Amino acid sequence: MAHISTDKLHQALAHFFGYNGFRHAQLDIIQSVLNGEDVLAIMPTGGGKSICYQLPAVLQPGLAIVISPLIALMKDQVDGLRANGIPAAYLNSTQSQEEQQSVIRAARSGDIKLLYIAPERIPANAAPFFDFLRTLRPSLFAIDEAHCISSWGHDFRPEYLKLSVLKREMPEIPIIALTASADKVTQNDIVARLELPAPKLYLSSFNRPNIRYHILPKKEVLGHIVEYIRQRPDDSGIIYALSRASTENIAAKLRASGINAAYYHAGMDSRERAQVQEAFRLDEYNVIVATIAFGMGIDKPNVRFVIHHDVSKNIEGYYQETGRAGRDGLPSEAILFYSPADIIKLKKFAITEDDPQQSAISRRKLQQMQDYCTHEGCRRQFLLTYFGEHTGAYCGNCDYCLGSLEERDATEDAQKLLSAVVRTGERYGLNYIIDLLRGSSSARIQPEHTELKTWGIGRNLKKDEWQWIAQQLINGGYLHRTDDQFATLRATDKGWSILKRAARLTLVVRKEVREQPLLAEGPQHEPRLLQQLKAVRHKMAQEEHVPDYAIVADNSLMELATYLPVSIDDIKNIAGFGDYKAARYGKDFLHAIDMYMEINHLESRMHFKKAKPASARRDKPERPAKGGTAETTLQMFNDGMSVAEIAAQRGLSPITIEGHLASWAGTDRLDIHKLVSPARLTAIIDTIHTTGQTTAVKPLRDILGDSYEYGELKIALEYYRRTQGNS
Ligand code: ADP
Ligand code: ZN
Repeated sequence: MAHISTDKLHQALAHFFGYNGFRHAQLDIIQSVLNGEDVLAIMPTGGGKSICYQLPAVLQPGLAIVISPLIALMKDQVDGLRANGIPAAYLNSTQSQEEQQSVIRAARSGDIKLLYIAPERIPANAAPFFDFLRTLRPSLFAIDEAHCISSWGHDFRPEYLKLSVLKREMPEIPIIALTASADKVTQNDIVARLELPAPKLYLSSFNRPNIRYHILPKKEVLGHIVEYIRQRPDDSGIIYALSRASTENIAAKLRASGINAAYYHAGMDSRERAQVQEAFRLDEYNVIVATIAFGMGIDKPNVRFVIHHDVSKNIEGYYQETGRAGRDGLPSEAILFYSPADIIKLKKFAITEDDPQQSAISRRKLQQMQDYCTHEGCRRQFLLTYFGEHTGAYCGNCDYCLGSLEERDATEDAQKLLSAVVRTGERYGLNYIIDLLRGSSSARIQPEHTELKTWGIGRNLKKDEWQWIAQQLINGGYLHRTDDQFATLRATDKGWSILKRAARLTLVVRKEVREQPLLAEGPQHEPRLLQQLKAVRHKMAQEEHVPDYAIVADNSLMELATYLPVSIDDIKNIAGFGDYKAARYGKDFLHAIDMYMEINHLESRMHFKKAKPASARRDKPERPAKGGTAETTLQMFNDGMSVAEIAAQRGLSPITIEGHLASWAGTDRLDIHKLVSPARLTAIIDTIHTTGQTTAVKPLRDILGDSYEYGELKIALEYYRRTQGNS
C-alpha cells in the first residue's frame, strides 16, 4: 500500500465520518494497518476501535473482512457505515439463503468495502471457507472483540479458535485484532492464538472522562431512580440489577410511574431478548432494566446513564457496564447504589463448588468492589489505579471531586436517634423512630411517646437525612436491625458507647451538587432548538428504518444547536457530518435552524467553531499512466467496442472497465457522450452542484434514482472533477 500522508488521513476522516481529529492511538493504528502490519489494539469501550479498520477499509482497494461475534452489533455497524455512504454488508445466520447469496455476489463484484462475518459461519472443515475468502480478495482482516479467542478472557467463544489458521492460510493479509480487555494474560493469548508473528501493540488509556461516577447509599432506591429519570425524560439509560426477578419488578414499578421501561435477562427467549434490544436501540424504550446478560450486544452511543441498582461482582464487570454510558463522548453518568448488606449476600454465594481457590478469588474481587464503594477519594483514580494506570488524585468529574461528600461530626444526631430507640423499648422500626424524632402529628405515635424528651428533638433534619444517618449507624454496627418482616431497631454495645459519650461518630454526608454546565466555554446550545432537531432526526430515522443515532449522533445535534450553521459548507464543519451526511440531511436541519434563528433573532455562531481539514474533494484526479491497462481499455473503446465486449475480451469485470474509462473522462482522448448522454450528464452535474457531493457515487444515485447506473455516475463524477471540480 502506498504511503498516505497524515493530512490525507485527516481529510478522509472528515470526509467519510465527519470527525475533526483522531482519538487515542487511532492515527498510529491506521497507519500501521495501511503499512500491512499486524496490530493488536486495546482501547476502552467507546474509545473508537471501529474507525481503526473502517478507514483503512475505505482507503484500500478490495474489501475488509470483519469478524464480529454479535449479530446485533453487526447490524448496527453496517447501518452506521451505510448512513455514511460506505457500502457494507454482513453475513450471518439470521439471513435467508438468497440474502446470503446476494451479499456474496456483491462482495465478489467489488461493490462492498466492509463485510462483517459471524465466527459461527466458519465451518468445522475450514478449508473451503478460506478458499471462499480468497475469492473476495480481502485487504485486511479485522477481528473485533478479539478476547473471545482466549479462554482467559471473560467471554471465551470456541468458534473464535478457528481464526487461528487465518495467518497460516493467508499470511500476506494484515490482521488487526481489537479488544477492550486490558489484562496481560489475555493480550498474550490473543497474539499466540492468532499466530501473529510480530504484531504492533497499541494500548490506550482506559479513562472515560465524560462519565461522571457517583456512589449513593442504597436507600429508597426506586424513589431516587424515578426522580432521576423524570428529570431527564428524553435520555436513554440502563439499570443493572442482579436477579432476573428484580429486573422485572423494577421495570414494572418504573412503568407504573410513567417511565417507558422494559426488562431484559437471560431467562427470556432469544426472540424476546432481541426484540427488547432492538426497541431500545431505536429509542422506543428509554430505559432497560437488565441483568448483566444485557450489554455485550448493544452498541448504542447515546446511553446517558447507567445505574447499578445492585453492586457488581467485580470491578472489571462494573467498569465494563458503566462503560456503556456516553460512547458518543457526551457527558454521562454512572450511579451505583451501595449497601454493605449486598456485599455480604454476594459473598455467601461466591462459592465455586470444589474449587476453594476460585471461591477465594471471587470473594477478593467482591472485597475490592466494596473498597471502591467506600473509598474516600477520587473514584476515577481508584478505578484507573485498579487497571494499572497512574492518574492524579483529582479528576473533577466524580462525586468525591465535585465535593458532593463531606465529613461531619454527627455524634449529637446519633445520640438523639439511639436515645429514641432505647426510650421506646427497642420495639419499633425506623420510620416510627424518625416520626417521633421529628415530632410528627401522625396518629400512630403512641400518646405516651409524645411525653418523651426525645419527641420532636430531631426537627433539625429532614426525613431522608435521618434515614441516611440510621443507615450509617446500622452499617457501622451501632444499631442492630432485625431481619423479620417488621424490622425493629436495637442499640448495640457500640451504640451504647455513643449514648454514654464514650465515643464520637463521624459521618460522610452528602452536600448539594451544583450542575456543571455542559459547555463551560464558548457559546451554549439552544435547548428548544435541540428538541426540534431531535424531532427532525427522528422523522428521518423512521423513514429510513434506522435508529436515530444512525442519522447523526446527539453531539452533532448539540453542535448544530450551539453553532447555528446556515449553509451546507457550515454543516460540514459540524462533528459527525461528512460530505455524504451533509449533502443528504443538511438541508432539513438547516431549515429547522433557520426558522429558529429567525423567530429568536439569532445570528450564526460558526465563527466559534474550529474548521475541519478541507476534504479531499479539492484534489484533481491524476491522469492514468501512459501505456497502462487503462490506456488499453481506452483504445479498445475508441475502436468501437462496448464495455461488455472489452470486459469479456480482457477477462475483467465491467466495473473495472468502467473504472478505466472513468479515468479518461474529461480528457480529450475520450468522448464522454458515447458513455453518458448529454441530458443525463447535465442532470448528474446539477445534482453534484446542489449536494456538494463530489467523491462518492452512492449518494448521487440515492438522489437520482436507480435508472442511473453506477458506472455512468462514476464516469460523470470524474468528468466533473476534472473539468469543473477545482473551481
Ligand atoms: P468501540 O468499538 O471502541 O467501543 P466505537 O468505534 O463504537 O467504539 O466508537 C465509539 C463512538 O465514538 C462512536 O459513536 C464513534 O462514532 C465515535 N468516534 C470514534 N472515533 C471518533 C473520532 N476520531 N472523533 C469523534 N468521534 C469518534
Ligand atoms: Zn474524581
